[in-house]
Amino acid sequence: AEQGGPPGAALREEYAQLADSIRAHRIAYYQDAAPTISDAEFDALFRRLEELEALHPELVANDSPTQEVGGEVSAAFAPVEHLARMYSLEDVFSLDELTAWLDRATAGVEQRSPGATIAWLTELKIDGLAVNLLYRNGELVRAATRGDGVTGEDITHNVLTIASIPRHLEGADHPEEVEIRGEVFFPTKEFGQLNERMVAAGKAPFANPRNAAAGSLRQKDPAMTAERPLDMYVHGIGARTGLSARTQSETYELLKGWGLPTSPYYRVLHSQDEVVDFIAHHGDHRHDLLHEIDGIVVKVDSFALQRALGHTSRVPRWSVAYKYPPEEVNTRLLDILVNV
Ligand code: NAD
Repeated sequence: AEQGGPPGAALREEYAQLADSIRAHRIAYYQDAAPTISDAEFDALFRRLEELEALHPELVANDSPTQEVGGEVSAAFAPVEHLARMYSLEDVFSLDELTAWLDRATAGVEQRSPGATIAWLTELKIDGLAVNLLYRNGELVRAATRGDGVTGEDITHNVLTIASIPRHLEGADHPEEVEIRGEVFFPTKEFGQLNERMVAAGKAPFANPRNAAAGSLRQKDPAMTAERPLDMYVHGIGARTGLSARTQSETYELLKGWGLPTSPYYRVLHSQDEVVDFIAHHGDHRHDLLHEIDGIVVKVDSFALQRALGHTSRVPRWSVAYKYPPEEVNTRLLDILVNV
């Protein structure tokens, strides 16, 4: 059955069970912020589904987990339609896979835009929660979670409690309307103390800072969110009217000028070797940061080339996430649990 050809009954069964189990894990992770398996285990299930679909494309339905952005929208929040869709990222798990991806993107650009050279924007993959900020004439009017990419959850009141997110943009040259996307994270340094407080109050500790960020941001009561030291870095834009920038990196400099929190670690690189060096460097310094990272994101810097490459229904074809190998169990959390 692994050789291709029509899928047999056993394989159809494995496929259906796997797709159902991935859907259930997505609900537990996004909607309930209570995953029951590790991210590495989840990634392995997802990978297997992709393999089965590559061998048997006839299995792929429109509602396959590989065709949809995974976030669920909880009824506890008002639904918000994003002006422009939000996407997930294609993952690669080794340098060989990354090189194959960079070669594919280069060939795609060459085909659509012969002679163009690619600048690669590389940055940290922040392990937090994707948030979409909508500014009109420089005023923050709405904030939402990613949800399924089309509809997210309205968390405006909670986001207003985060000190690093400006209510009014600085300067004067703002677009009439712009969606700014980024990652809200729970600072690593404060995470241990939060769990100690949770346990002291008789509550279950968070499994990791990402879950702490999601749990803190998706509170019914903004006063609860305000007590948590949440922070944010922005890493993209959605719908915009009247934005002059022509590259991702120019955009970051504009956003920074308007007082938005941009990461100091992004680079614009001109060769695949430099991209690989960037990954090695941050792999060695993974824990010297304010936030956790689970990988490195590589983007084609030029907006014209991004548009030329386009999107699938789930991911942009101009960006990829290299995931670092999973680390051992969080020892700090183990300490806390052992001492309960
Ligand atoms: P993803 O986390 O692999 O990547 C997409 C997201 O990365 C984007 O939406 C964006 O918000 C974020 N991101 C962080 N830094 C970024 C940057 N610099 N530039 C652009 N984007 C950046 O994909 P996903 O669809 O959000 O979710 C999959 C993740 O969730 C995987 O890590 C998976 O293991 C985990 N997950 C786990 C379970 C579980 O049961 N344990 C279930 C579902 C999902």
